[in-house]
Amino acid sequence: MSEPLILDGKKVAESVYQRLLLEVSLLPVVPRIVFLRVGEDPASQSYVRSKEKRCLELGLRGETIVFSESVSEDEVIGKILSLNRDKDVNGILVQLPLPKHIDKARVLRSIDPYKDVDGLHPENAGLLLQGKPRFIPCTPAGIIELLKFYNIPVAGKRVAVLGRSEIVGRPVAQLLTNHDATVTVCHSKTQNLTAELLRSEIVVAAIGKPKLVQANMVSSGVVIVDVGINRVDGQILGDVDFDTVKSKASAISPVPGGVGPMTIAMLMKNLVLAATLQSQKN
Ligand code: NAD
Repeated sequence: MSEPLILDGKKVAESVYQRLLLEVSLLPVVPRIVFLRVGEDPASQSYVRSKEKRCLELGLRGETIVFSESVSEDEVIGKILSLNRDKDVNGILVQLPLPKHIDKARVLRSIDPYKDVDGLHPENAGLLLQGKPRFIPCTPAGIIELLKFYNIPVAGKRVAVLGRSEIVGRPVAQLLTNHDATVTVCHSKTQNLTAELLRSEIVVAAIGKPKLVQANMVSSGVVIVDVGINRVDGQILGDVDFDTVKSKASAISPVPGGVGPMTIAMLMKNLVLAATLQSQKN
């Protein structure tokens, strides 16, 4: 098979930023986001740093509140409630994962749904389920934007989503269904993953297992979206074995440089949307 189309997330994210710069210039406020980070997990530190940096590059306001690993759930929620009341804050993002002693669901529920730029509040998840999304979780939104940019149709296609997490698998399956795809959600209890993948025209892999998807598991001409970010011996690997699978794929997203940059771009888009919705409310 000829070389596949590389789904270049960096390039697509740049085009999103160009559009956002125009939108931001028309807003009556400079959008402001507050990131809440708990503990010193290096991956979380690096994700929040990248998000803050991007805010700065777009002329948006982004700042981070860091809590110690031992912070109480009530203290985190207390901070969120005060940010909810602050009219100068448009977006609130709690960087996951949280330490085990903190009830993630309770924390996410305490965010004002109009400031929930990660789209994880039950109200926003419900709106997505009803096909009337407000804030779409950033990684799923980025996947759709990536496919759209490269004119890869999803309507009527058989899509396998690997993973059923609240942050990627479930919402991306919902979003693809909203876009008229025929979606199969595969997970750790799926009996015959290869059989499911072989009958799929598009595969979205979000499992967190380096190179789990191999060339013999996918059909010729498949479109691959690799969400995985796995740190192995100082290297970042996807959930798909890029080097072998690329010979069978018609299009494939690399790791890094595929879905990752799209996730941050969609966060910025949600922040601008939050500021826009709030300025209409006031
Ligand atoms: P998670 O651990 O919450 O969920 C993993 C899912 O994979 C589960 O639903 C589980 O059932 C499924 N799974 C595990 N082993 C499986 C197997 N052998 N076969 C089929 N399904 C299996 O993970 P998550 O938060 O959804 O993240 C998944 C991956 O995506 C991770 O590598 C994470 O780092 C990455 N990620 C990337 C971005 C990005 O911006 N690119 C954003 C979020 C997550």
